[in-house]
Amino acid sequence: MGKLYIGVDLGGTNIVAGVVNEAGEILCKKSVKTDLPQPEYVIEGKICNLCKELCAENGYKLGEDITSIGIGTPGNVNSETGVVGFNVNFGYIDWHLKEKVMEQIPGVEVYIENDANSAVIAEVIAGCAKGCEHAVILTLGTGVGAGVIVDGKVLDGYNQSAAEIGHMVISAGGRQCNCGRKGCFERYSSATALIQDTKEAMLANPDSKLWNVCPDIGRVNAKTVFDANELGDETAKQVIDKYIEYLACGIINVVNIFQPEVVCLGGGVSNQKEGLINPIKEYLDNEDYARHLMKRVTLKIATFRNDAGVIGAALLGVYNA
Ligand SMILES: [Zn+2]
Repeated sequence: MGKLYIGVDLGGTNIVAGVVNEAGEILCKKSVKTDLPQPEYVIEGKICNLCKELCAENGYKLGEDITSIGIGTPGNVNSETGVVGFNVNFGYIDWHLKEKVMEQIPGVEVYIENDANSAVIAEVIAGCAKGCEHAVILTLGTGVGAGVIVDGKVLDGYNQSAAEIGHMVISAGGRQCNCGRKGCFERYSSATALIQDTKEAMLANPDSKLWNVCPDIGRVNAKTVFDANELGDETAKQVIDKYIEYLACGIINVVNIFQPEVVCLGGGVSNQKEGLINPIKEYLDNEDYARHLMKRVTLKIATFRNDAGVIGAALLGVYNA
């Protein structure tokens, strides 16, 4: 039996913990409601009890069979000190999470990392960018989450807030973003943005087959427009073409800055696989600054999907070993 790791995905709704092997496979998992708002010590207790119960119920001894717990959380995290500087969902400032977990579970190493960073770590350790020293992940979900690996290390910035690629402006003066800027990448390339585009197109085009795919506009999701495109709907095709134009613009900016070996696309929209990747490749072939070189970036769909949070957190034990 190879080494085993616990990964904890600390979310605003659920805390999920899993035992994961070096290949990034989940052997067992367990979750508990986060029930915010809560003081710090309650969440610390929930995390520690969850890890203990997960091990007890599945016959693993903490500190013997498993000697590493990784925790992935939103917010800016100092991975060296294990202090979560600011976590907007939880409302904590300078949360000494690593220290608190180590007090309650002696004999294990504890690693804390921002969840987008753990996602890219999972991909370079065991996923679609395995072994890459230069890689970027873009998770197309509610927003656009991003993690960047440069020279085999997570790009942190001096205040652990680097790689906020979702808030790179791609359309000056464009759509208002929650971050205070206008025209951010995620306002055009997230699943949320695609759903907004789809709804606007439906209202402007009452004859579109988008209405056949989804008669209730309140139920439009990131797949609706791709389903209507399959039926040959011209409105759907226009929405997708525009979406891909923006997405490609942002990806090529990222490629030009970092020249990664792989860009991994995750999140709900990436379920479209080749339907998403192939048209972006055409933009890359025409616009990537380094397109004439032998060594070119490859676009891939992220390996780790729904359980990426738990797996990424667990593999922090491999990354930091
Ligand atoms: Zn923004």
